Amino acid sequence: MRFSRVLRVSAVVAAAGLALAACGGGSNSSSSGSSATNLVAKAKDSKKLTIGIKFDQPGLGLKTPDGKYAGFDVDVATYIAKELGVDAAGITWKEAQSAQREDLIKKGEVDLIVATYSITDKRKNDVSFAGPYFVAKQDLLVRADNTDITGPESLTGNKKLCSVKGSTPAQNIKDKYAKDVQLQERGKYTDCVTSLLNGEVDAMTTDDVILAGYAAQQPGKLKLVGKGFTTENYGVGLKKDDNESRTAINAAITKMQQDGSWKAALEKNVGPSGYKIPEVPALQP
Ligand code: GLU
Repeated sequence: MRFSRVLRVSAVVAAAGLALAACGGGSNSSSSGSSATNLVAKAKDSKKLTIGIKFDQPGLGLKTPDGKYAGFDVDVATYIAKELGVDAAGITWKEAQSAQREDLIKKGEVDLIVATYSITDKRKNDVSFAGPYFVAKQDLLVRADNTDITGPESLTGNKKLCSVKGSTPAQNIKDKYAKDVQLQERGKYTDCVTSLLNGEVDAMTTDDVILAGYAAQQPGKLKLVGKGFTTENYGVGLKKDDNESRTAINAAITKMQQDGSWKAALEKNVGPSGYKIPEVPALQP
C-alpha cells in the first residue's frame, strides 16, 4: 500500500519533470530552453521564439508606451514565426541595438533578428541571413531649415554627423565621402534625433526608411535629404549555417510577398511617413 503510494508520487514527479522539460523550464540558458537542434525544430517543439527587433524605430520596430510592439519588422517577424508554427503569443520580443546583433545571435539570446539588419559580407562571418525582405538606401536627415547639406559630399568642412555604433552608415560616409566629418556615435538612433533637434550635430545618417519615420514624428522640424547613396538589403539574421531554418524563413518571406501581406504591412507601417513603397526584392541564393 505504502509502497504503491511512493511509486505513484514518484510517477507524478517524473511526469511533472518531463512536462517542465517540454515547455522549456529546465536549466538550459538558450532563449527558450528547448533542446531542439535548430530554429525550425525549436519553433515546432516549443511553439516559442525569441526575436530581436529595434524598439525605437517608428514604422519598423517600435515598443509603444503601452508595452506593445509595432512596425514592418514586427509584422515580418510575426508572419515568419507563424509559418514556423509559433503564433504571436509565443513570441518574446527583445531589443537588438545595432552593435549587439551578431552577439545576440551567437550567444543564443535571440533565435532570429528582424531589425533593419543589412546583409553584409563581414556580418556573414558571424551569422547567416535569410532574405532580403526589403531594400533601403542610406540617406541623411537634417533640420528643416538647413540648406547647405544636399548629399554626403556636403559633410566636409568638419560638419558633425551622428550615427549609431555597430551600424554600417557612419563609417561609409567617412571612408567614401567626407574624411574630415566629425562622427558622433550613439547607442541608438533616437539619441541622434535628440542631438539633431538641439543643434549638437548637423545631420544624422542611416537608412532612408528609418529616417522617414523620424521626420514624420517631427513635422516641420526635420527633413530627409532624399538622395539615397547605398543599397541596404535587409535580412533576417539567424545562427550561422542553420541552412534548414534559412530555407524555411525564405519560404515564409516569399509567401508573405505573394499573398499580399508584405505590401499591406508596408502600407500600414511605412506608408504614413510618405516613404515610397519599393518593389519586392529577389532573395539571395
Ligand atoms: N541597415 C543598417 C545596418 O544594418 C543601418 C540600420 C541599423 O543600424 O539598424 O547597419
